[in-house]
Amino acid sequence: MKWTQRRFNPNTLRVEQVPLTRREIVRGVLLRTVGVLAIGATSVWLFDQVFQSPADRARDREIAFLEGQLAEMRGELVTMEHAMEDMAERDDAVYRTLLGAQPVPEHLRNPGIGGTDRNADVRGHIHSEEVADLKTRIASLQRAMVAQSKSLDEVTEMALEYEDRLEAIPAIQPIRAEDLNRMAGGWGWRFHPIYKVRKFHYGLDFSAPEGTEIFATGDGVVVKVKRLYNGYGRHVIIRHGFGYETLYAHMSKSIVRKGDRVKRGQVIGLVGSTGTSTSSHLHYEVHKNGEKVNPAHYFFNDLTPKEYEAMLAASELETQSLD
Ligand SMILES: [Zn+2]
Repeated sequence: MKWTQRRFNPNTLRVEQVPLTRREIVRGVLLRTVGVLAIGATSVWLFDQVFQSPADRARDREIAFLEGQLAEMRGELVTMEHAMEDMAERDDAVYRTLLGAQPVPEHLRNPGIGGTDRNADVRGHIHSEEVADLKTRIASLQRAMVAQSKSLDEVTEMALEYEDRLEAIPAIQPIRAEDLNRMAGGWGWRFHPIYKVRKFHYGLDFSAPEGTEIFATGDGVVVKVKRLYNGYGRHVIIRHGFGYETLYAHMSKSIVRKGDRVKRGQVIGLVGSTGTSTSSHLHYEVHKNGEKVNPAHYFFNDLTPKEYEAMLAASELETQSLD
């Protein structure tokens, strides 16, 4: 077969079938080949753009799924961070304040991230920044939780001790209000009925009939039961712990022994007039860390505010004490 081409011949003014030179043939073949290849490549590229392979599609779906999960986790992390802040705030503002503890120092709640780069292993990826940020925040939340957990342990311990303390501290009147004739002698300077001089009276005198029941005013241990012919007469001392002791004097009878554990409200003896006393009454003292303090400040449990005020006023009247 011969390679020919129809060409217009200007000399003959006719279209003639002309054989092609070898050079023309080679050029023609090359041009066509390049054209076919170009069209083919373009088609493949276009096909790939429009129709992805199943593997590619699966991978893209996976990435989209992971991105969605990451965003969801970030949302949950933010919620947890807020919950943690709220817990820390409540801990400092309520529990620790109520129980009289110092707030947790900020550096314990929020220790800085120190030393090695924790996020070195997630560098160099499209989502590196986001993953590194999440990891840092999770680590800081973990530290905050550890600090908070320690603080709550401490608060729990204090709350338990606080309960003991509430039960131990003298907090009731040692004599039933209806058994009480009157508040005979208060805290402060009083005219002493026997020595006939002004002396500081370190307790409260409750005037009541002989044989009236006397109550322990807080939980504790009896550390002294003694009979004297003057001074306190037959008297009992209870140690409550937390620095508190109470003393009950001039009893006609004591019904506890040294070493006995007593509960608040338990009967420990009966009113009398033993020792240096002019009439039947209970002389009651509260000692805090070895110092005598005004017992009137320790009746908060069983008096209404009005009764408490009346009692306080009576205890401050400068009358004659009974011992
Ligand atoms: Zn007295």
